[in-house]
Amino acid sequence: MIYKRSSALFAEAQKVIPGGVNSPVRAFKAVGGDPIFVKEAKGAYLYDEDGNRLIDYINSWGPMILGHAHPPVVNAVVEKAKKGTSFGMPTEIETQIAELAVAMVPNIDKIRFVNSGTEACMSAVRLARGFTKKDKIIKFAGCYHGHSDSFLIQAGSGAVTFGSPNSPGVTEGTAKDTLLARYNDLENVERIIASNKGEIACIIIEPVAGNMGCIPPVKGFLEGLRSLCDANDILLIFDEVMTGFRLAKGGAQELLGINADIVTFGKVIGGGLPVGAFAAREEIMNHLAPLGPVYQAGTLSGNPLAMAAGLAMLTELHNNADIFDSIAKKTEYLHQGITKVLTEKNVVHTINRVGSMISVHFSEDPVIDFESAALGNNDSFKKFFHGLLDQGIYIAPSAFETWFITEALTYEDLDDTIKAISITAENL
Ligand SMILES: *Cc1c(COP(=O)(O)O)cnc(C)c1O
Repeated sequence: MIYKRSSALFAEAQKVIPGGVNSPVRAFKAVGGDPIFVKEAKGAYLYDEDGNRLIDYINSWGPMILGHAHPPVVNAVVEKAKKGTSFGMPTEIETQIAELAVAMVPNIDKIRFVNSGTEACMSAVRLARGFTKKDKIIKFAGCYHGHSDSFLIQAGSGAVTFGSPNSPGVTEGTAKDTLLARYNDLENVERIIASNKGEIACIIIEPVAGNMGCIPPVKGFLEGLRSLCDANDILLIFDEVMTGFRLAKGGAQELLGINADIVTFGKVIGGGLPVGAFAAREEIMNHLAPLGPVYQAGTLSGNPLAMAAGLAMLTELHNNADIFDSIAKKTEYLHQGITKVLTEKNVVHTINRVGSMISVHFSEDPVIDFESAALGNNDSFKKFFHGLLDQGIYIAPSAFETWFITEALTYEDLDDTIKAISITAENL
């Protein structure tokens, strides 16, 4: 396929936007070449500026779980826009989406809407600190919770892809309050808690990690964290920005049967518009301004267009709960197909999958944490990525990303993808 116009647009963009992109993972730094410029998208397909059609496995990094330009979502936004796009005053639709979210997600009484997953996680940690009156937090190497200062310590995908796990600009003062633990290693967490007795406000974690590839929690790990939190007066924050409204109606909490104290959302909850949210039981949420002392605000928070998109999306998911099963089955089909062709071609690989999240690692050892994820063969990944792109299949331009399966993908699309992988595997 030819990507000439995309390259020309990229050259223009680089003159006025740092690196030509407004979020680093969109640049093709890790795989080489120029990023593709999208013109439009519909269902499972992207149409780029050169007129190519690509099967999309990124889906805006998760939100488009029902496919691009899903009519109920698009119509909701268009109708809402005609009535004004922002007021900075309360609107009924905010309560409607809040009621629906609270009904779908276990273990939460109240929810507050913000504009991104980053904001949601940043605010959740502030709330946890305000509630527990403690300062330190535990995060896991390879987990990403957005780009706010206290999380840019071994922050997974984007940050790792660019070789700056710890970003300049984050002060030592901030960094010292973030304690780094190993994913799937409960003893490691126990040791950290023991040596910071009475100082830890919260543990924040992706309950299924998705920013170092897809890494499921090993049996007992999240249960162990739950007990450690209970025993030490620590709040457990599930960052469900990726897993929320994807792994099940109630996210990872429902799928895995574990309750978090605070849950954060983003991606799917906005239906493709900029939305994040954080939620908890009433006792915790009432610490937020204007009820309580923990300040948090936003001029565009609860924006009517964003709420309309989110409400339409959640309504679809609420009314068609089979969707989660259906997407998981498609993902399983893809998993089996990829395993078969990579095995036939003797390509060393490990595939991780939970529900509709899947990642292919070019390494033979189990991928269970950031260290093992980093062992994958990056040259193979680069060839894999470009081999697929040449055949009109778009996966994330980094080995540290999950693929996001959408309900819009047909089994024929999946078969085409498996065939393309088989052809690409010849050269790995
Ligand atoms: C994407 C992501 C975020 C950040 O969300 P933004 O909307 O990009 O700020 C936070 N946590 C997780 C788990 C994510 O996948």
